[in-house]
Amino acid sequence: MPYRSVNPSTGEVLASYADHSDDDIQSMLTVAHNLYKSAWSHGPIQARISILERLARLIADRADALALILVNEMGKRMVEARWEVDMTAAIARYYADHAAQFLASHPLKTDRGEAWIEYHPIGVIVAVEPWNFPYYQLVRIAAPNLAIGNPVLAKHASIVPQAAIAFEELLTAAGAPRGAWTNMFATAKQIGSLIEDERVQGVTLTGSEKAGSSVAAQAGKNIKKSVLELGGADVFIVLDDADLDRAIELGAQARLNVAGQACNAAKRFIVHQNIAETFLSRFKDRFAAVKVGNPLDLAIDMGPLSSLAARDEIANQVKRAVTAGATLHFGGNLVDLPGAFYQPTILTDISRDNPAYFEEFFGPVAQVYVVADDDGAVDLANDSHFGLSASVFTADVDRAKRLAARIETGSVWVNNRSSTAPELPFGGVKKSGYGRELGEFGLREFVNPKMIVVEQA
Ligand code: NAP
Repeated sequence: MPYRSVNPSTGEVLASYADHSDDDIQSMLTVAHNLYKSAWSHGPIQARISILERLARLIADRADALALILVNEMGKRMVEARWEVDMTAAIARYYADHAAQFLASHPLKTDRGEAWIEYHPIGVIVAVEPWNFPYYQLVRIAAPNLAIGNPVLAKHASIVPQAAIAFEELLTAAGAPRGAWTNMFATAKQIGSLIEDERVQGVTLTGSEKAGSSVAAQAGKNIKKSVLELGGADVFIVLDDADLDRAIELGAQARLNVAGQACNAAKRFIVHQNIAETFLSRFKDRFAAVKVGNPLDLAIDMGPLSSLAARDEIANQVKRAVTAGATLHFGGNLVDLPGAFYQPTILTDISRDNPAYFEEFFGPVAQVYVVADDDGAVDLANDSHFGLSASVFTADVDRAKRLAARIETGSVWVNNRSSTAPELPFGGVKKSGYGRELGEFGLREFVNPKMIVVEQA
């Protein structure tokens, strides 16, 4: 697919870029590998940390312009775009502040002599990233790998080339040497060739199951470390003693933020039967009040999906769900505007044999299920191919902790919607992938924890 920036609110083509040639990609790899072999990668961490400090400052300085790219290129509302830009700067700052401590050598207790672990870079890493959080997804890879000394070759999604270029420019302006972070307009085939190359030591992909499985298979075949951050069908559990005002407000935000296109968006609402009727009626009112429209209009609550293709896919998924017996409780229509707009939508009565039961809905469509008790909530939560994150709403924190321990996901948020922070590890289990980004865990994925032992004389 060519790299093309199209405004999803208007259909206007903003920019397009030719794919890099095989020779271009080979040159990028050579530069990155030479950097890995240099003192920059293996020398004192402070030189690399300084780049992250400058990166954080530059992102803050350019915040408005960076945010506008996201509004135009993928239809984020300005408030959503600004949140992402601020979070991107916060992640750069977090690793600038903490990476030296995380990567410090430490002694090991053994009777075999003086022993310790020291952390080393492993080589060039290939990153394949999605369009839904165009800067945040990149900095989750860039910041820890810069601190470690691993050069990164990054392939961004083909619909966000302007964000990809802006991010590369930020790193250059922050003083990153050539090869530390390289944006590639690469094809899937070129990614495959890179994974085969012995100079590449790891690959990380955030995106769909299909892309993840393909890239991980190539990594496995070539014995390369991989990290996968894939989809989710996250549950939002509302128990009978929950603060309903809070659960409804945060539930709507959790489903409709960025027009429902977050991997960790709440997608399956599991509601206790005692409060189900009230919840559903008020949840519908909340969805009905959402103003959908051009994200440049500050009065709107939800922008378009990222492309017309994404909108049509979600519309078809809803149709298939209803044909298979689900009830369309609210919404289910395209919005009468030229762009990729879709109504906030609620589906109920989804039986286990409905294809919707196991699918990820990557748009503003909430599924609501009713359960009789806590066991029912856990069983339904875990009856999923995915396991990214979950939320539990209840006034009884001990009850929430018992549920949290039994839910098969990479994280559980009690009385809040699933979110992110630089210090909190992010990732999933099952088909949501493996490995973690962010926090100290995120720094440990592509590093050689080298053990050295010195025999006592
Ligand atoms: P996608 O189609 O898998 O695209 C993601 C990236 O993979 C893009 O750069 C895409 O390039 C590339 N790609 C696709 N097939 C490939 C292949 N065979 N080899 C190499 N690269 C390939 O995903 P999407 O539909 O755009 O993104 C949404 C998905 O990402 C959802 O499932 C969402 O839940 C998931 N996601 C997960 C997380 C997380 O942290 N767990 C975060 C955000 C999104 P092109 O654009 O050129 O096709």
